[in-house]
Amino acid sequence: MDLDAGRDAAIGRPLSRRAEVNLTRRLRSWLSAWSGPEDDPVTTLVRTHRAVHSSADAATLRRGYAIAESAHRGQMRKSGDPYITHPLAVAQILAELGMDTITLVAALLHDTVEDTDYTLQALEDDFGPEVALLVDGVTKFDKVFYGADAEAETIRKMILAAGKDVRVLIIKLADRLHNMRTLDARSAKSRARIAGATLDVLVPLCDRLGVQALKRELEDAVLFHLEPEAYQHIDGHVRVHGGWVTYLSTVVGQARAALRRNKVAGDVVPRPRHYYSIWKDTVAGGYPEPYDPPRVVIVVDGPDTDCYAALGAVHGLWRPVAGRFKDFIASPKNNLYRSLHTTVIGPDDRSVEVLIRTEGMHRAAEYGIAVNFRFPKLAERDDRAAADQLAWLRRVLDWEQETPDPAQFLESLRCDLAETQIQVFCDGNAVVLPSGSTPVDLAYELGREVGDHCVAARINGRLAPLSSTLAEGDVVDIFATDDRPSEFDLDAEPPGPRREWLGFVKSPHAQMQINRFFAERQAPGMTIADKVRLGRAAIGLALRRHSRGLASDLPLRRLAEELGYPDLETMLVAVFDRKLAPDTVVEQLITLVDQRPE
Ligand code: MN
Repeated sequence: MDLDAGRDAAIGRPLSRRAEVNLTRRLRSWLSAWSGPEDDPVTTLVRTHRAVHSSADAATLRRGYAIAESAHRGQMRKSGDPYITHPLAVAQILAELGMDTITLVAALLHDTVEDTDYTLQALEDDFGPEVALLVDGVTKFDKVFYGADAEAETIRKMILAAGKDVRVLIIKLADRLHNMRTLDARSAKSRARIAGATLDVLVPLCDRLGVQALKRELEDAVLFHLEPEAYQHIDGHVRVHGGWVTYLSTVVGQARAALRRNKVAGDVVPRPRHYYSIWKDTVAGGYPEPYDPPRVVIVVDGPDTDCYAALGAVHGLWRPVAGRFKDFIASPKNNLYRSLHTTVIGPDDRSVEVLIRTEGMHRAAEYGIAVNFRFPKLAERDDRAAADQLAWLRRVLDWEQETPDPAQFLESLRCDLAETQIQVFCDGNAVVLPSGSTPVDLAYELGREVGDHCVAARINGRLAPLSSTLAEGDVVDIFATDDRPSEFDLDAEPPGPRREWLGFVKSPHAQMQINRFFAERQAPGMTIADKVRLGRAAIGLALRRHSRGLASDLPLRRLAEELGYPDLETMLVAVFDRKLAPDTVVEQLITLVDQRPE
C-alpha cells in the first residue's frame, strides 16, 4: 500500500458523510477549526480525552486515526458499518476510562497490522516503539500458519507483552467490550462462543486488573448474549424498581445526617448493582425474583481511619446484620480492592448494603490498574499498589518460562484466573492462594527452594499432613530441610518434591514447579543408558544396606516382569525417575529370591 497517498486521502472523510453536512455545521466547524471540524469523527474522542488530560496532544490522535482510516478503507464490519468505526469506538472506551494518548493511538491502530497491509515496522517508524509494542501485543497470530495453537499462542504473546506494558491488556479488554456490544451482527453460534470465551478469560483478567468500570460492562454484555431471558427479566425488575428512588433518598439523607453528627466528612450516594451481579446472586441464592437489595456507598474525605468512624456512625443508626461485615481495608482482595462492606436493617426494616471507602479507594475500585493513567499526578502514591496488583502477572510470566506447550499455558492461566482465593498467614505475612490450596502450594508460593524442600507443616499450631486443605485465615508454618544428598548415604531418598504432591496441589504455580523439578532431573545430556546405570546403582546400594548382593540379573528380570514392566531396563529407569523406590525393589527382590532360591 502506498502509505503517503493513503495518508493524504485519509485527511478527508467519505464523501457520502460529507455530503450530508449542512452549511451551518460546516461554518461552525470552520470556526472551531482549532479543535478540528465538528463533524470530524475524531472530535468526540479528542474532547473526551482532553476532559481528563487537558494538555493531551490531539495531533497524534488525528494522525493515528487518519492512517487507520486509510488502511481499513473499504473494509466493512459484519454489521455493515465501515471497519474504522470499531477501532474508533475502542479508543473512545479507553478515553472514557482516562487512558493516556499512547494507548488511544494504539487503540486506533490496533487492527491495522493484523488486517491490513500496514506493517509493524511502518507503525514503529510512524508512531514509535511504545505504540508498536502495544499493537503487536494485541495482534493475533495467523490461524493458517499456527493452526490449532493460534489462539493459545496469541494469549501467551499478549501476556508476555503485558509483562512489558500492562496497557496491552487494557486495550484488549476495550477491544473485546466493543466486539461484545456489536455481537448482534454475528451468528448465534459465534455469539455464544465469543461471550463464553469472554467470561472464561477476559472477565477474570479484568477483575485481576481491578478495572470495575470495564468489568461491569463486559459482564452485562456477556449476560445479554448468554442468558437473554434472564437479562430481560432483570432489566424489567430494575426498571420497575423506580420506587427505590424514594427509599434510597431516605437512606442517603439519614446516613448523611449520621455522618455529620459523628463529625465524619464525606458523602453518601446510591450504588446500584450491575445486571450480571444481580443475576449471579439471584442464581447463587436460589431466589425466585432478582436479588437486588438497595445499596449505597459512603466516600469519606479523610484517611482510612475515617472509614471506621463512618462504619460506627452507620451501625449506630441501623442495626447491622450479623456475619455480613467484611473488612477489605485490613485484608484487601487479591486485586487490591479495599472497602468496608456491611449490611444493615435500614428504614422500614428493609436490609441495605453499605460500602465505605476513602476517595483513593473509590478511584482504585473503579479504575484499578488504569488509575495511574487516569490520575498521573497521583501515580507516585499508587505505584506500590500497582506493582502489587501485577504480582499475579509476574507469577504467570514465571510459568510461561516453564511451559513450552501453549495449550497447557492457557489451561493454567484459565485455572489461575477462575480460582476463588483464600488468604493465609505465614511468618506474619498474608499470602493469597487459590482456595483448596495445601501447605505445599503455600511452600511454593514462598519460593522454589522452600517448596522443593518442605517436609512438614503446622496449621494453627498443630502438625498437619502436607496434603491438608487450608482455610481462610489459617496461620501456617512450613518446615523445610536444607539437606543436600549425603555422600555417605547415597541410597537415602534425596530431598525434593514427591510425585504424589501432583495429586493434591491446587495452584498451577506449584504444579509447574514440581513438574520442573522432575524435568530438570532428566537432564538433556542424560541418555536412557545413563538412567539404567544410575537406577541399577541405586538398587545396588539398597541391596548392600540389606547385606545382600546379586550374582546375576535374573532375579531382577523376573521382578521386572512380575511388576508389569516390559523389560529390566524400563524398571531401572522407573527407579531413576523415582516412580519406584529402590527399597521397594529390594524388599520384593528378597521375598522373590527367598521363596525361589536360585
Ligand atoms: Mn479489534
